[in-house]
This record gives sequence, structure tokens and C-alpha cells, in this order.
Amino acid sequence: KVAAPSDAALDDAKLIGITVDKFKDFPNWYSQILTKGEMLDYYDVSGCYILRPPSYAVWEQIQAFFDKRIKSIGVQNAYFPMFVSSRVLEKEKDHIEGFAPEVAWVTRAGNSELDQPIAIRPTSETVMYPYYAKWIRSHRDLPLKLNQWNSVVRWEFKHPQPFLRTREFLWQEGHTAHLTAADAQKEVLDILGYYQAIYEELLAVPVIPGKKTEKEKFAGGDYTTTVEGYIPATGRGIQGATSHHLGQNFSKMFGISVENPEGKDLPKVNVYQNSWGLSTRVIGVMVMVHSDNKGLVIPPRVSQKQAVVIPVGITKKTTKEAENQIYEAAKDVEARLVEAGVRAIGDYRDIYSPGWKFSDWELKGLPIRIELGPKDLEKKSVTVVRRNDNKKYTVSMDNLEKEIPEILEELQKDLFLAAKEKFDTHRVIVENWDEFVPALNNKNLILSPWCGVMECEEDIKDSSAKKAEEEQDEEVDDKAPSMGAKSLCIPFNQPTLKAGTKCVKCARKAINYTMFGRSY
Ligand code: AMP
Repeated sequence: KVAAPSDAALDDAKLIGITVDKFKDFPNWYSQILTKGEMLDYYDVSGCYILRPPSYAVWEQIQAFFDKRIKSIGVQNAYFPMFVSSRVLEKEKDHIEGFAPEVAWVTRAGNSELDQPIAIRPTSETVMYPYYAKWIRSHRDLPLKLNQWNSVVRWEFKHPQPFLRTREFLWQEGHTAHLTAADAQKEVLDILGYYQAIYEELLAVPVIPGKKTEKEKFAGGDYTTTVEGYIPATGRGIQGATSHHLGQNFSKMFGISVENPEGKDLPKVNVYQNSWGLSTRVIGVMVMVHSDNKGLVIPPRVSQKQAVVIPVGITKKTTKEAENQIYEAAKDVEARLVEAGVRAIGDYRDIYSPGWKFSDWELKGLPIRIELGPKDLEKKSVTVVRRNDNKKYTVSMDNLEKEIPEILEELQKDLFLAAKEKFDTHRVIVENWDEFVPALNNKNLILSPWCGVMECEEDIKDSSAKKAEEEQDEEVDDKAPSMGAKSLCIPFNQPTLKAGTKCVKCARKAINYTMFGRSY
């Protein structure tokens, strides 16, 4: 129906397009789609990146979604300084031990050395809690629920990855104080539910909620809950977002206590605390999961623009009048969609052919394109093409406002189902150690009966790393050959553990099924 793009236009498109295969060279593919798709640019400080408008727009959608939900449970936004003195930072011993290697310090201002170096927050527990001690005087001040939308700095020495592991990253960090453990622990799960919804409902990325092991939990906390994602192309897991119950560890250190509401003579009660965070890492996960060799694929609910209207079928023989009609009809379609709440734009650049424009918008990951040419105009309809699978629809001009949003919603759902099918088929139960490393090498995450002992967890990591090298064959992701399997989480949704089941690695009794995998 639509005039085929000329060969020259296609050649042009190839030059601007992606030149590496997602499954052959994942790191370069990832770097190309982010930069050519204009999501991100590199920066001259290693581990730091520029978020360009299309990726920041995704972040804004996430902010709007999450902000509304946390406010509905009484959380308020606030802002604390990015600097923290060493005296305060080092107050909670386990906490600082966990973060110390990654803390960046300011030691000099202009030409003079500072008397006391000042740290840049890697997270704000120690920045905020002295003020919680000051502000929380009575049980009537509880719960106190504050959140910051800010950036933190963790000078990581692991290989940096755009969005996934950066030295400065945007996130939100929520910090709440409660009178009872039960009240705090309920909130931990409410927040984790919102995180799961961000991944699944906004980004169309399935995740597994669960609890971290003692080894992997947040430094200084009681326990950590997490949502864990999966990158099918590499077979690796990724920590999605975490919601921690800190118990009374920090409130004891910082002296955050109230009089016992049961009676003045009873000892004071230290408050129970939570902290929870989700970072711009989510954008990288979304990109890795959905995008392909033509470029980005961005789910409609978070895409900066959702639909592009492109006039097509204009040839040398087209009269000026007919051409004007097409352009006007296209602009009308765009305006009607915008009016209906669809984030639509029109591409009326006359120096490019339709084929070139198709490739350009495919690269940028716009969910749908709407083609409008002489034949569409005659039939009073438009042609709609989905970015993810080229599925075509003919939509009558009369039904634009109804059908375009439906197509976008259907696309959103299909992206999630496709990702879920990949995750579900690559999450396998392994009971015997012999099958563990081969399953890992087949790009699976693994659910295994496990004893819960930290040394065994370390043994699993070491043994799976070595074995992977020995058993290396060509199909394995050769960029990460020696990496061992970490515990990702103890999923809340557990397969039934039969009585007497042994740990997958050692002779001890298993206490649950734990999810293991190579991870980012
Ligand atoms: P944490 O405070 O360590 O529990 O981290 C909170 C969340 O921030 C984690 O669940 C990660 O998704 C994310 N995160 C941690 N480190 C980084 C990093 N270097 N770059 C981007 N995101 C990160």
C-alpha cells in the first residue's frame, strides 16, 4: 500500500542504524542503541553519563507513578544536603563497612586542604537520622515518612554500565520511622509492591519479588526485600530495586526514641525504621529487555512520544494540491491524537524519504508509527505499524481517538507477555549440583534448594565460576565467562520444599528455594 522506500534511502538508514547484533556483541549493541537512539551520552568522567530527554522522560513517568503512590500512604518529599561529615557517616559500623570502599570524599576547596574531609552521600541514612532523633519527640510524631528524589555517588570499581551501574545515579530514597516493627514491616512490602508495579505495569519487565540472603542484604539493616529482573540476551539477573527493614539498628545508634505509649515509667522505645530505593538503573533494564537490532523499543506508557505521524506515498507525479492535502490530513491526525491524550508528533521533514524516517523512529523506539498517504486518504483511514513486531492495522479516521490508545495498550501488554515468557522459560529448578553450571551456561536463572549458610553461598559462587571456565563452549556469553552465580533472592513465591531435601551444594538440609544466577 505504501510506496516502498528507495534503495538509497535504505542505505542511508543503515548508516544511522545499529551495526552490531544484540546476540553477538551485547555490550556494543547496548552502547549503540543508547547513543544512536539518543537516550544517553558518554561523559569524560568515567562511570558518569548524560541522560538525554527521551530517557529523562521515562524517569519522569516513573516519578509521577511512584510519587502518587507513596503520598497516598503518607510519605512526604524533602531534601537533605549531599555532603556528610565523616563523624556522622561512620556512626553505624556495619553500614560504613559496607559502603566505605565506594565513598567519594571532598578533600580540597580551591587551593586549601579541608581540615576534615567531607563525604558525598552514597545513601542518606546517616545524613537524615540525626534529624529524626531531633524531630521525633513523642509517639505522636510517628510514623515519620520522608522521601528524597536526588542523586547519590558510589565510586564503584566494578565495570561501569550506563544506567545499571554508574558512579552518580538518580534515585529516590525513602526513610521512614515507626512505633512498631509490624507497622514498618507492612510498609516494606507495600513499597516493594509499587516497585514491582513500576517494572511490570510501566516498563513491561517481569520481576521476582523476594528476600535477600544475609550475605547480600543492605549493610546495617535487619533484612532486605528486592525485585529481581532478568536480561534474556545475556542470561543474567539484575537487582531491580530494594526495600529494607532496618529494625532498630540505626535508631539505637542515632538515639531515635520515644516514651513508651503504654506508660511513662517503662523504658523508652527505639523506633523501627525502613529505607527503600529505586534508581535510574530501571531504564537500562527496560532497554536491555525490549530493544532489538533496529534500535530501541520503549513501552508506550513511559515513552516520551508514543506515535509518529508520517506522510507517505508522495511521488513526482503527485500534484501540489494532493500533497498539501496529505500534509494537512497528517497534521490533523496529530492534533486530534494530542487532544485525545496520545503523545503524538508528526514528521514533516521534506528532506527525508518515508523509509529514512521509518528507520529513524524505529531507532528511537517510538511504539507506533502512523502512515498516511493518498490511498489512506481516499479510504478515510490510516495505517498503523507497531515498532516491536511490525504488526499492521488499518484504523478508520473516525475511530482514531478510540483505537490508537487501544493499540498502544495492547502493545504494552504484548511487550510484557513476551518478556515474561522469556523469563519463565529461563528460570529453572535445579536439585543436583551436576546440573547447576550447565543450566547457568544455558542463560538460565536457577531455583535451588539451599541451606542458607553463608560459606555455602560463597562456595556456590566460586565453584560455578571455575566450572563455567572448564565447561566453556561457544554458546556461552563470552563476555562474562568466569563469573560465578550469586544468590539473587529467596522468592516469596516458593516451590514446595519436600521434607528432607538436601542443599544443592552441600550436605546440609535445605531451608528454602533460593534463586541464583550470574548477575549485573
Ligand atoms: P541500595 O541502597 O544499595 O539497596 O540500592 C538501591 C537501589 O539502587 C538498588 O536496588 C539498585 O537498583 C540501585 N543501584 C545501586 N547501585 C547502583 C549504581 N551504581 N548505579 C545505578 N543504580 C544502582
